[in-house]
Amino acid sequence: MPRMERGTYDQDLLALLRNARHIVALTGAGISAESGIPTFRQAQTGLWAQYNPNELATAQAFRQNPRLVWEWYSWRRQIVSQAEPNPGHIALAKLEELTLSREASFTLITQNVDGLHQRAGNRSPIELHGNILRTKCFDENTIIEFWQDAGDIPPHCPHCGGLLRPDVVWFGEELPHEALRSAWEAAETCDLLFSVGTSSLVEPAASLPYVAIQFGAQVVEINPIETLLSPSANYVLRGPSGIVLPELLLAAFGRQLDET
Ligand code: NAD
Repeated sequence: MPRMERGTYDQDLLALLRNARHIVALTGAGISAESGIPTFRQAQTGLWAQYNPNELATAQAFRQNPRLVWEWYSWRRQIVSQAEPNPGHIALAKLEELTLSREASFTLITQNVDGLHQRAGNRSPIELHGNILRTKCFDENTIIEFWQDAGDIPPHCPHCGGLLRPDVVWFGEELPHEALRSAWEAAETCDLLFSVGTSSLVEPAASLPYVAIQFGAQVVEINPIETLLSPSANYVLRGPSGIVLPELLLAAFGRQLDET
């Protein structure tokens, strides 16, 4: 398996990037790290440094202390709304455009809840873990767009009076069925899959690269550090995605990039 230093890219990989019939990019929190959104494994800052995100992002934590969990998400929502897509997000949007323009398929699957892929220009990413900017009723599981701000934290559902929560998938919860079905289908039908900025620990997303391998695709990992997936990937590109992805696109498409 080629493990390449940044800046040197295997010619077979570049050819695949230009000719693949279906490219999948699976992204995790790492792709947004360079936009200033911390991953769960990076230390939380300030007020939240004493809390473990893995213990706040659960239904049990919400039941025990809904105010604490709501406030943690309000803080994260504020970080997300101030963040901008970085060169890694923008490179994936360009790759989608280039791939579609030669009538091949492109599927972006993200575990992120920050909406930065859409803001970078990707058309319809599959959001496996929901979106932090949406809110739903904890009891009825329906999306709520408007509610009266009576000063309660969390606010109450205007229909049933239950508590409101972010529309994200917490640890131990099921993923949205249609998103998972589409992601699985994409992994089975692609010929090239990128796993970008994910620790490959959180299931079921962590299985998608292995599904792709099983169905004959080449898998490329982009991550500054070794993950569980690394030994199984066909190519491992070590480095931050905000640098590796634009470099890789430049190596594969050169001046064609300026025309998009
Ligand atoms: P993770 O925190 O477990 O792992 C992040 C991975 O990104 C690590 O392997 C790390 O080495 C890598 N990384 C760090 N900086 C990078 C960079 N500049 N370029 C490329 N890779 C980099 O994240 P995860 O595997 O996605 O799982 C945690 C869960 O937490 C996700 O399912 C997600 O729903 C949620 N989460 C989302 C966000 C977000 O929406 N931005 C942020 C934090 C957590």
